[in-house]
Amino acid sequence: MSSRPTILVTGGAGYIGSHAALALKNAGYEVIVLDNLAYGHREIIEDVVKVELVVGDTSDRKLLDELFATRNIAAVMHFAAYIAVGESVNEPGKYYTNNVASTLNLLEAMLAAGVNKFVFSSTCAVYGMPKEIPMTENHPHNPLSPYAASKDMVERILADFDVAHALKSVAFRYFNASGADPSGLLGEDHDPETHLIPLALLTALGKRKQLYIFGTDYDTPDGTAVRDYIHVNDLAAAHVLGLEYLLKGGDSQVFNLGNGNGFSVKDVIETAREVTGAEIPAIESDRRAGDAPILVGSSDKVRNMLGWDPQYADLTKIISHAWQWHQKRHSK
Ligand code: UDP
Repeated sequence: MSSRPTILVTGGAGYIGSHAALALKNAGYEVIVLDNLAYGHREIIEDVVKVELVVGDTSDRKLLDELFATRNIAAVMHFAAYIAVGESVNEPGKYYTNNVASTLNLLEAMLAAGVNKFVFSSTCAVYGMPKEIPMTENHPHNPLSPYAASKDMVERILADFDVAHALKSVAFRYFNASGADPSGLLGEDHDPETHLIPLALLTALGKRKQLYIFGTDYDTPDGTAVRDYIHVNDLAAAHVLGLEYLLKGGDSQVFNLGNGNGFSVKDVIETAREVTGAEIPAIESDRRAGDAPILVGSSDKVRNMLGWDPQYADLTKIISHAWQWHQKRHSK
């Protein structure tokens, strides 16, 4: 019998969830990953993270009831969600069903089993177009896509469940999650891939002919959009701190997770060229609908309250770790 608390990690076979599952395991927790493997990768859990994998869906109440009844789960970390902003515009029902209704199902199952600690994967997209930079947690909400709205709705549900049922939650609003575990064994593997850093690296590997720069006429120093890139291991470390805060009896909180530094699309491509030594052809093209010119977050609150101290707040390091992973991933 282990005395270590057991944490259920939904979506633990995905990009951020797998890094968090590994961080939890390394911090001494018992980890159960629940993933439907629609986008997650079985081999990441079986071969690298090496924790228990339950293949199933958060919409499956019977499965959830069985897990909570038999496994003495102390808290849930919830990463399982669809994440493609563009797709969410075209298929909103898919996003509200999976990201909201299934989360509600999970929360109801938790409450029925007396589990009341929840760490939630939210997004800076709940803020919409920035009114101030850096954005703090008090920035008004204006989600611009069904994806962002789905995360915002869950945040609202969490606040209501705290009042009604004393469900204690920590929601993290991520800025641009990026990088990979320094081991090179875990990383970002989305299909289809839409994110800038992996696309730049796939171009460096010759898997893509070129990269498109979405917009060169923004009101930014070089005309391209500016983002706050945060290393996935720093995100994972914050989740462990958030969990520990809840296990110690902390009240519900919402925290931004970013580095507070902005890098333009051109900065990212230039750094990727330096890291890889590859040319990375980049073609200037139109803006992508719904993109803000600048998204940079203040993480003062999480630093002050949880003592979060990012270890990889450096774009070259973030891209180098992602590059190690991409090279390994595509060497097979
Ligand atoms: N971007 C780009 N070309 C691409 C993908 C992204 O110029 O092929 C830009 C995008 O418009 C945004 C930034 O890179 O300004 C980061 O985009 P990403 O999709 O990685 O993250 P997002 O900020 O949308 O969450």
